[in-house]
Amino acid sequence: MSGPRIQPSILDIAPYVPGLSSAPSDKRLVKLSSNETPLGTSPLAVEAYRGSSEFLHLYPDGSAKKLRAAIGDRYDLDPKRIVCGNGSDDLLYLLATAFAGTGDEVLLTKHAFAMYEIAARSVGATPVIAPARFLGSDVDSLLKHITPNTRMCYLANPNNPTGTFVPSGEVERLRDGLPDHVVLVIDAAYAEYVRREDYSDGIELVDRHDNVIVTRTFSKIYGLAALRLGWLYGPPEVIEALNRIRCPFNANGAAQAAGIAALSDTAFVEAAVTHNEKWRPWLEMELEAIGLVAHPSIGNFVLVEFERSSGRSAKEVYEYLLRNGVVGRELSGYNLEDYLRFTVGLEEDNRLLVGLLSEFLASANQ
Ligand SMILES: *Cc1c(COP(=O)(O)O)cnc(C)c1O
Repeated sequence: MSGPRIQPSILDIAPYVPGLSSAPSDKRLVKLSSNETPLGTSPLAVEAYRGSSEFLHLYPDGSAKKLRAAIGDRYDLDPKRIVCGNGSDDLLYLLATAFAGTGDEVLLTKHAFAMYEIAARSVGATPVIAPARFLGSDVDSLLKHITPNTRMCYLANPNNPTGTFVPSGEVERLRDGLPDHVVLVIDAAYAEYVRREDYSDGIELVDRHDNVIVTRTFSKIYGLAALRLGWLYGPPEVIEALNRIRCPFNANGAAQAAGIAALSDTAFVEAAVTHNEKWRPWLEMELEAIGLVAHPSIGNFVLVEFERSSGRSAKEVYEYLLRNGVVGRELSGYNLEDYLRFTVGLEEDNRLLVGLLSEFLASANQ
């Protein structure tokens, strides 16, 4: 063979398919496909973003010092143990680069967030997929799949797209069951939304052990998905390694400015939690009322099963909704062919979704 040779493990990657973001026609689209907040962005963050336009000709602070200090303040963490990135995806990739390579295994659960498998393969490692239990991660199942080649384990908590979570005691049991050299990466992208006593984002485990890392994001409740900003908290040795391999300016200036301002707007975040606590249960209840099965979720989205509960396939429903201006998330890439995921939207969006589903199922039953 002649010409460039792509690494074989990269050719095995199924491309990440994001939720649709614009309508096929010119219609306004109600986008319930990517778990973005329906409440927009804090006005303080928008103002800071605009302010950053004066400095577009300058490189940003590569160490994101002020932003790390603001995160440290907000979450009571040592800023020296924080690394920021171009979205948490950037950091999930970096972690794979730091800990895994050809011949190594990276452990994850079936139906887990797609980025883990992509990151593992991109560094030549083999993803090992532990079976799920009730669609969620199961500690015994994960522990059973550890081999001498396991280098890291990704755990989305809560998980996207299933909305499931692993209670804090179970996460601790997972950590305690891992060999010391296996790194546990806890992706807590939706942590701010969760209001449960038995949930933790895992930060306290980072403080107690040298093989736990927690990633967080500004893309979800903070409403800054377009700017690409995430951060992680980890042990000093890991932070040092990541700072060597990350791109020097992997958190851009506008994102840093907006991120700092977003952290200061606690009322905005509270309002988002209140909205979600009202409308996610409402959605779940209304969906059940029209005969659908909504999987219990602790995030800002719900996973809905179709064929088995309504006789209509998820694909038919997806297309019907799209024709009517609502986009859900299709999940065949997650081995969830009979499900769609819907982000909790504004009141009118949620009502529109339930109305359309109800109409469609009723028309099917005649
Ligand atoms: C949305 C999401 C992220 C966030 O990714 P960013 O790159 O920070 O936008 C990370 N993990 C999960 C599970 C998600 O659903």
